[in-house]
Amino acid sequence: MLKAGLRNAIKGLAITLAVCSFAVTGSPLCEAEGQAVVEAKGQAAVQTVGNSQGAVLKTYAGENDASQNTIVFTKSSKKITAGRSFQFEAELMGDSSAKISWKVDKTKYAAIDENGLLKTQRAGTIRVSASADTANGAVAASVKVKIKPKKIIAIDAGHQARANGNTEPVGPGASTRKAKVAGGTTGVYTRVPEYKLTLAVAKKLETELKERGYKVVQIRKKNNVNISNKERAEIANENSDIYIRLHADAAGSSSVTGASALYPSARNRYVGSLSKKSKKLSDCVLSSMCKKAGTKSRGCIVRDDLTGTNWSKIPVTLIEMGFMTNKQEDIKMQDDDYQNSMVKGMANGIDKYFGYK
Ligand SMILES: [Zn+2]
Repeated sequence: MLKAGLRNAIKGLAITLAVCSFAVTGSPLCEAEGQAVVEAKGQAAVQTVGNSQGAVLKTYAGENDASQNTIVFTKSSKKITAGRSFQFEAELMGDSSAKISWKVDKTKYAAIDENGLLKTQRAGTIRVSASADTANGAVAASVKVKIKPKKIIAIDAGHQARANGNTEPVGPGASTRKAKVAGGTTGVYTRVPEYKLTLAVAKKLETELKERGYKVVQIRKKNNVNISNKERAEIANENSDIYIRLHADAAGSSSVTGASALYPSARNRYVGSLSKKSKKLSDCVLSSMCKKAGTKSRGCIVRDDLTGTNWSKIPVTLIEMGFMTNKQEDIKMQDDDYQNSMVKGMANGIDKYFGYK
């Protein structure tokens, strides 16, 4: 699609070039025709590539010397959401016969194929490089890419090494108060306290979610902390999209088993507006977990007296993973494979909640 004027200019150029090819760089004639040479440099380059001469190329390309040995990204992106793909494209200036190779610096975060198709996985920052071995040496270019998390998940490992009997309001503006952190239960057979179990599972869930491209806010990372249920909710509220509270159950009868998910009712005076989404979240996480781990489900249960739930400003669920007062379930919940199945199931449920699967 050349305009008439330019077409004429190129016609004239054919003669100019013929003359130039005998003249060497620096010929006054070529310099005088600088404008026309620039317009047609692509064509001139193509004509001479076959005989490969860098020098000839340079003569015709004129001011294009510098770009002869470079790679230019013609399609790239600086931000991609985890789990998405993006087709990178680059052009090799000068030696068009060389093949461009693609590479990422952190293969745990993303993979790129030989054609530049990037598939992102984990959230983080990577560098995408394109390189080629040309007749004039190796050339490379790279671009920094931020892989954004799919969503931000707050996880709270219920309880802590030492209970805190001081009280706090059970919800914003509430006159009713409850202990800041209750003691939790203990495995009837393993004697493992609930706070140790919840942290072990929380850490596994964090790893699993990060591998799936989520960002995780782990509210407590060790057992020896003192963070009230209200404060935990406030940490979750800062940036997260959903709030997962992990607990284990206890009952007077040792025969009671199964997992449940606790969510606020629509009538909850503090978080009633979050009831619907919290129920959906509870249902997704609980059903996927029970399916994956083979746990009996006791269903989603309304609870409006939970401080950590009532202070939440994001969809929230409290997962009671099983009964520590039942010997078999107590033993099972300490099993590494069983914990892995539970967290894979919970992560499946989170994917399902957000519509990722
Ligand atoms: Zn608990």
